[in-house]
Amino acid sequence: VLELENVYKRFGDQPVLRGINLTVDRHEVVVLIGASGSGKSTLLKTVNLLEQVDDGRILLAGEDITDPRVKVDAVRARIGVVFQHYNLFPHMNVIDNVTLAARKVVGTSRADAERTGLALLERIGLADKAKEFPDRLSGGQQQRVAIARAIATDPELLLLDEITSALDPQLVGEVLDLVRELKAAGSTIMMATHEMSFARRVADRVVYLKDGVIIESGTPEQIFENPEREETREFLSRLR
Ligand code: ATP
Ligand code: MG
Repeated sequence: VLELENVYKRFGDQPVLRGINLTVDRHEVVVLIGASGSGKSTLLKTVNLLEQVDDGRILLAGEDITDPRVKVDAVRARIGVVFQHYNLFPHMNVIDNVTLAARKVVGTSRADAERTGLALLERIGLADKAKEFPDRLSGGQQQRVAIARAIATDPELLLLDEITSALDPQLVGEVLDLVRELKAAGSTIMMATHEMSFARRVADRVVYLKDGVIIESGTPEQIFENPEREETREFLSRLR
């Protein structure tokens, strides 16, 4: 679904991504780990075209989305995104948040969008909150709605950036459970997280990023039980 070829990105004179080569296959869950500032969010943003790459290419289903002629909105419509916080529109109730993209971007009728939206809310256990506004929901509920909104248009790829790091610990589990469900249902996901236990449980592949370079990538078993690179070992041992 996604291929990054030799992606470079700098902010001013600071190189942040230095030659990233990475593929995400259909139905695969790829989890980015790495210290704060290693470039995880920047990498996700280049895929969503929130940041332009300086060099290299990004292919979505074979199409070069870093080509300047590409229509940014059309690309974004194919990718669902959830960030750490402030994902929902505060002035819209839950069902309007979830159905907005379907109605405005895809052009689905309100009735159809709401039927799909309600089914989604049903699935995440929040159908009773359809008419509530975001500020009446817990952080965990808000993030689950944000995920529902991101998948409402059935995107080819889901980007999740630290979606649990602003949550109280007791709310983390419900959000992570939802991601596991999406994985089981066949979503293709690229996510950044500091939750190593989660990376271990949900990832098909873990990618360790350091200073904008992929140091090592492999199955959770390889990375967590038996890392090949000393740097990976050091990073993980500092977390324990
Ligand atoms: P964290 O784990 O804290 O979320 P991260 O791995 O997501 O970190 P990034 O947010 O990608 O790291 O940042 C990588 C580097 O790029 C950091 O040094 C950061 O200060 C810098 N950076 C990110 N965005 C910008 C920007 N818009 N302008 C200038 N520098 C930026
Ligand atoms: Mg980040």
